[in-house]
Amino acid sequence: MKIDLHVHTTVSSPCSLIHPRRAIEWARAVGLDAICVTEHDEIAGAEVTSELGRQLGFPVFRGIEIYTEFGDMLVFGLYEDAPGWKTPFADLLEACRAQGAVIAPAHSCRVTGELERIHGPDKVTWLMSNVDAIETHNGGCTAGGNEGAAHLARIHRLPGIGGSDAHHEFQVGRCYTVFEDDIRTDADLVAAIRAGRCRGAYPDIQG
Ligand SMILES: [Zn+2]
Ligand SMILES: [Zn+2]
Repeated sequence: MKIDLHVHTTVSSPCSLIHPRRAIEWARAVGLDAICVTEHDEIAGAEVTSELGRQLGFPVFRGIEIYTEFGDMLVFGLYEDAPGWKTPFADLLEACRAQGAVIAPAHSCRVTGELERIHGPDKVTWLMSNVDAIETHNGGCTAGGNEGAAHLARIHRLPGIGGSDAHHEFQVGRCYTVFEDDIRTDADLVAAIRAGRCRGAYPDIQG
């Protein structure tokens, strides 16, 4: 199953130009099986789009992108707004553990070695031991940036996920996650990421 795990809509991402209906239409057109809406610090966009998805017969899962001192974290399984801008990672971790949610650093290597340079290698190792996956395929990153994230995933033995980080509809599906299992619910999505039964991917180029 191909799911774009990182989509922003106009509902609660002022930086996005994608109406929820167009996100769904575009995802269908490019052959995705589902999307997950991950607005910045707010769950509302994911709620609205998943309800619309139910009406249109296209699965839309609910995530959230939360800014911490280690940069943006994609969170799946936490269905409330972030406690505030720049949520301390430790607070996010506690909330995720309490609610059974999973965390994956988003676009963590937009600049190669950024995390290590800012926080030092020990702190990065600690961070990686407390996340469940890492976004190895982000549609807004260069190939080198994504390779940096994939390197982190390999050395810390974390599963990779992929998402377009779309803010314009034509970007939906430019990266996605391939799941080994049939994902029908938000809970299935969380369980599959936790089990590492997924990998990030770029679309196949046809012809
Ligand atoms: Zn981000
Ligand atoms: Zn994003």
